[in-house]
Amino acid sequence: MANGHPEAAAKFVSDDTRTHWHDQAVWWIRQKRDTASAAVPDWEALREAAAGIKRHALSRLADYLEEFERHATALGAHVHWARDAAEHNAIVHKLLNDRGVTRLVKSKSMLTEECKLNPYLEARGIEVVDTDLGERIVQLAKEPPSHIVMPAIHRRKEEIGELFQIHLRTKPGASDPTYLTEAARHHLRDKFLAAGAGLTGVNFAVAETGAVVVCTNEGNADMGTSLPPLHIACMGIEKIIPRERDLGVFLRLLARSATGQPVTAYTTHFLGPRAGGELHIVIVDNGRAEILGRDALRGSLACIRCGACMNTCPVFRRSGGHSYGYTVPGPIGSVLAPARAPATFASLPFASTLCGSCADVCPVRIDLHHQLLALRQELARKKLVSWSKRLVLRIAALVLAWPGAYRLAGWLARQVLPLVPRRLLYARWNIWGQQRELPPMPRRGFRAEYRRQRRD
Ligand code: SF4
Repeated sequence: MANGHPEAAAKFVSDDTRTHWHDQAVWWIRQKRDTASAAVPDWEALREAAAGIKRHALSRLADYLEEFERHATALGAHVHWARDAAEHNAIVHKLLNDRGVTRLVKSKSMLTEECKLNPYLEARGIEVVDTDLGERIVQLAKEPPSHIVMPAIHRRKEEIGELFQIHLRTKPGASDPTYLTEAARHHLRDKFLAAGAGLTGVNFAVAETGAVVVCTNEGNADMGTSLPPLHIACMGIEKIIPRERDLGVFLRLLARSATGQPVTAYTTHFLGPRAGGELHIVIVDNGRAEILGRDALRGSLACIRCGACMNTCPVFRRSGGHSYGYTVPGPIGSVLAPARAPATFASLPFASTLCGSCADVCPVRIDLHHQLLALRQELARKKLVSWSKRLVLRIAALVLAWPGAYRLAGWLARQVLPLVPRRLLYARWNIWGQQRELPPMPRRGFRAEYRRQRRD
């Protein structure tokens, strides 16, 4: 889909109440993250360790993937390799089809969202039930998740009540979260009991042991893999960590960064299939190997999908996750999407103030704002940025490079702007001015004012 972040964001911000409320809701999670991280004295050391482990794992990714395959196979799991989304979907479909499965229960997996697995399976007669509460809400609403940790954060509880009234026959006008959650639990229990297979994502795959580790807060991954005989676990190649003892570092960082909890409610280690069952692990590339080969962007593969960069980003908070038009929104999505499809997602690296807050909170220290800057430069080189923006930036670069030109531009602005009629100053071409007022022009420039104050 062609993505224009500014247009989609304009639609979101046109509802002032929702924008404000979304901003507050997401910021509240950011504050919980701050409190939780401040309570860990060695937080910065943990971040440093996590970044180091990921850097090392990515530098020897092929070796660790093979080691993981060996150990997982020895435990009785079947490992499948998928080059892209099409191969991934075909593998999952064949596993289900060969066993006559017509209903799949699925816990949260951004990878399957990325591969568009649900519509693929549904078109082939398989019912897919998302069992994470937020995921189920957006599935019923027929829309994509807007956040990787809180998929329905853009929806008010009243809207969820209306949705549940239609699909789950809850009481009209009900919006009490406890009541609605209870209704969802009953609804999902029936789905779990009738499912022929369970699919989960993978938070970490341990090369040393062949274990896949899945973290949830609702226990839905455990229900989905305990009842049906077939468990399919889908993971991107970057989910590998070398040793079991590395897990402690990531588990301490993940939940605190994501929701401010000390640890996720359920952290399940799957070491081979359960007795009498089957475990199939699908390892997917889908463009990751190409990112691995790019020095400026390689670090983005260290992401553990905690969502903290979204919760802190002033652009995400005010424009909502759907405005990014990609499975993963926010600062990390603004790196991953254009890295894969630059022409489609050319506006995303500009959906950032480059304030660096995302990098400050990232538990694996990804230098997101530097990556966004590198992508902007690349997009400009490829002429995927509008000519008007390129022209303005070229002029700005010239003015900023020459102190004389900078002083002259400042002087001109102070003299001319107060004389320009308001009609012209706030005309359609001035996008910046459409929602803001220019501040009153100062009588003198910064340098002159500074000198005057020093003199006085
Ligand atoms: S980039 Fe960092 S902060 Fe953002 S989701 Fe990934 S790990 Fe979390």
